Order: sequence, then structure tokens, then C-alpha cells
Amino acid sequence: MPKSPARTKANPARELVFGDLWEYDPAPETADPKLKPRYDLFINGSFVPPRAGKYFATINPAHETKIADIALADASDVDAACKSAHKAFTNVWGKMPGKERGKYLYRIARLLQDHAREFAIAETLDGGKPIKESRDFDIPMAAAHFFYHAGWADKLEHLAPGRQIAPHGVVGQVIPWNFPLLMLAWKIAPALAVGNCVVLKPAETTSITALKFGEICQEAGLPNGVVTIVSGAGETGAAVIQHPLTTKVAFTGSTEVGKSIMRSLAGTDKKLTMELGGKAANIVFDDAPLDQAVEGIVNGIFFNQGHVCCAGSRLLVQESIAEIVLAKLKRRIAVLRVGDPMDKNTDLGAINSRKQLTKITELVKSGVAEGAEKYDTGCKLPAKGFFFRPTIFTNVSMSHRIAREEIFGPVLSILTFRTPEEAVEKANNTPYGLSAGVWTDKGSRILQMSTLLKAGVVWANTYNKFDPTSPFGGYKESGFGREGGKQGLLDYLSVG
Ligand code: NAP
Ligand code: MG
Repeated sequence: MPKSPARTKANPARELVFGDLWEYDPAPETADPKLKPRYDLFINGSFVPPRAGKYFATINPAHETKIADIALADASDVDAACKSAHKAFTNVWGKMPGKERGKYLYRIARLLQDHAREFAIAETLDGGKPIKESRDFDIPMAAAHFFYHAGWADKLEHLAPGRQIAPHGVVGQVIPWNFPLLMLAWKIAPALAVGNCVVLKPAETTSITALKFGEICQEAGLPNGVVTIVSGAGETGAAVIQHPLTTKVAFTGSTEVGKSIMRSLAGTDKKLTMELGGKAANIVFDDAPLDQAVEGIVNGIFFNQGHVCCAGSRLLVQESIAEIVLAKLKRRIAVLRVGDPMDKNTDLGAINSRKQLTKITELVKSGVAEGAEKYDTGCKLPAKGFFFRPTIFTNVSMSHRIAREEIFGPVLSILTFRTPEEAVEKANNTPYGLSAGVWTDKGSRILQMSTLLKAGVVWANTYNKFDPTSPFGGYKESGFGREGGKQGLLDYLSVG
């Protein structure tokens, strides 16, 4: 059918016909994120300049323009941070009754809600994710983590009945750039609830909301030193992790850096949890509700531009329905809107950094070179900024790099299978084991698959659903330890 001309502003009255191209008016978010031109380190309850006086720029990846200068903490700043955290633990926080600690966590949760809009905009400007995601997912979920853990603070005796439990002391935490405030909440809320103090290093490209969180701690009247934020580079993270006062280390990031941290801590008695990479299989059986499954596939790989450790980046589809699923998928992704992250209609925002865009581009090229068939929507991309079209690969074999390596971008590799056994074999044939999805009408198959899949989280007839009550974490090279729920709290305690 020939495409009918768009119903545009110039031609608004023309009667709509099937196949019309709708044009959205821009719907930019315009509230003030209350940003500062310069962010200092948050140590001992105050914002202080780094001792060496060094700063680095953080940019808006959608426009490649500078947003602010961020303090670069060196080893001496980290030392001061860890000492103040240790003092806070010894003198105040570690001794405080759980019900008092809980009050501070509730206060933080409510303040995050009060400042939600401001935080959502700051997150989108600094990291590139669509405003509708930071507004409807990242910030509300961050607040939900503080609410949930606030509720636990005075009930810790129920975590390990009959056993002696004690906080570790000062926890060193290092987080990535894909869910900046949410990863902070995953780390800080449980650590504080059980009586630890924290020194946290945010990712270089997305430090703003972590430093704004320092302002929330001040507003909540949190005792000085309980939360410390030291921005900086990889070396800053290494200094936090290596510091003798951090008796527990919680890291979220790439498997490569995770392995190097584990090597560097071998022989010490620091407690360690690792949340690392993934290459999840999203498995669609021939009895699945296909339209629902297609929504799940799209959400699984294109949510947050695919910058998701548990992204459903390998679609395993039963051979008999592969053609129809592919056709539906192509139709669905044709209407995804890629562009200005601040526009409320945008589905895919900016890739977080030039470095990440280069990595995605290189892996996509390898897919083509190795013989897979590439399809993208051909949609127009903004002239400036880091953007990548929603991309799918068919004709993929298990040996291709795009089927084995984490791309961390909006790129889906599609493979087929004939039997449930083959699906399990292919799904588990990866060094990772973070998550998986199963789409089927049969309850018994869901139960069977969730037992056989070597993944920390298995979603059934849904994907990318999170809740503070539900533990999250990996098998194999996706890491160890859990975040969320009772298990997540236990990882911040020593149990005697
Ligand atoms: P990354 O390069 O490993 O960085 C993660 C964090 O570690 C950043 O703050 C980084 O600082 C810091 N860092 C780098 N080198 C370090 C070192 N030698 N010692 C201590 N800290 C160091 O990972 P990324 O590229 O930012 O994030 C993407 C990765 O995170 C993906 O592989 C993804 O799967 C994983 N991830 C996993 C989960 C999970 O829950 N399993 C959740 C989200 C993301 P800089 O920013 O300055 O480099
Ligand atoms: Mg940035």
C-alpha cells in the first residue's frame, strides 16, 4: 500500500486513513533540575573540594555539551572519606537502635519523592535515558528501595532467627552508569538499614544524582559521615575498595573490572559481593501469547537503550513461529521513537557516552562481518549526540560475537530452537547467568524452565520487572551475592 502523506500541522484536517504516519508535537520536560556548575565531594556531611583541586567535566550525551564540573577524588580524599565513615559507624550509626535508623531511611525515601521531578531531569540530562523512564522507573524505584529497607531496620532479628548478626562497619561501594540513582539506592539503603556506613563511588559519566543525593542526606539530617560520596575515575573506585577501613566491598559493573577487583582483594578478609554483566536469553515458545511476547522482547532489549545488565539480548524463538514473531517485531520497532531524551514521547534516548557508542558500533560491525543479517529501523537520528537505532540480527549462530559478548546497547540477536531441551542448552551456553525470560502458556513449562536455566532471575511472560522485595543477582561470571529482599540484607551483615 502506498504510504499516505503525513497528517502534519500544515495539513491537520485531512481525514485519517489506515497507514497514516502520525507526527508528534515535541513534548519537552521543562522543569528546573536545580543543577550546580560545580560538584564537590560529599564527605562528613559537607561538600568539600578535592585536596588536589582536580575536577572533570560531565556532559549531556544527547547534545555533547558540558553540564558541570565534578570533583575528582584521589587516594587522600578517599582516606579522609573512609576515616569519617568509620568514625560515624563507631560513634553513632553502628550503635543507633534500628527503629531510629529506620526513621532516617523513611525521611530519605520521602525526600526523594519530594524531589522526584528534579532528580528525574538531572538523571536524563547527565545519562541520556528517556525522561519517561527516569520519571516513571528510576526515581520511584530508588525511593521504593529506601521505603522497603526502612521497614526492615527495626526487624533485623527476623533475618536470621537465633543467630548473632552484626554490621560490617564501613562498606565501599562502586556503581555503574546505567541506573545511577537506582544503583545507589540498591547499595546504600540495605547497607544503612542494618547499621553500616558507606563510601560510594558513582560512575564518571553520571555522578550528578549521586552528589545531589548528598544534599538529600543533609536535608534528612543524617548524621555526618554515614553516607559519603566520592566522585572520580576507576582509580578512585580502586582506592575505595583497597582502603583498609572498608571491610565489605559491593561492586556493580563489568565482569572484566569485577575480576580485577577480585584478584586485587585475594588474601584479604574483606567481604565481597559482585553484580556483573549478562547475556540473557529471552525464550519464546510456540504457545506463547505472541503480541504480549513481542512487547516483552522490545522492553527486554530496548529499555534504557539496552544499557541493562539483565537485558534480553538473545532472543530464542521456537522455529515454527520465528517468521511471524520477526514480522511482528519489525512492525513494532518501526514505531519506536529515538531522539531527545527530554521529550516525554521518546522511547530510546542517547547512548551514555561516545566510548559506549563506539563499543556498540564495533560489535554490530563484527555481527555483519561474521555473516549475521542486520536490520534496523532506518529512523532519523539527531545530528548531534550519541544515538543508535534499534537493531536486530537474524541468521545468528552461537559462535558469533554478538551472541556471546555483552553489547550493552539496543541490539538484539535472534536465534531459533526446535525443542525445550535445545532452548535450555543454548540459553545456558554462556559464561554469564544473570537473568532469563520464558514466554509460554504452560505453567508446568515455566516451572521446568526456571529450574533448568542457570540464571539468578527468571521472568515468566514478562521481562525487566523489579521490586525491592525480590533478590537480584547472578550465577557464574555474572557475579555473586544478592541485592534486594532478605538475601540482600544478609549480604551486608556478618552472621555468627
Ligand atoms: P565498569 O567499567 O566495570 O565500571 C563500573 C564502575 O567501576 C564505575 O564506577 C567505574 O568507574 C569503576 N571502576 C572502573 N575501574 C575500576 C577499578 N579498577 N577499580 C574499582 N572501580 C573501577 O562498568 P561500566 O561500563 O560502567 O558498566 C557497565 C557494566 O556494568 C556492564 O557490564 C553491566 O552488565 C554491568 N552491570 C551489572 C549490573 C548487575 O546488577 N549485575 C547492574 C548494572 C550494570 P568509571 O566510571 O570512572 O570508569
Ligand atoms: Mg554525563
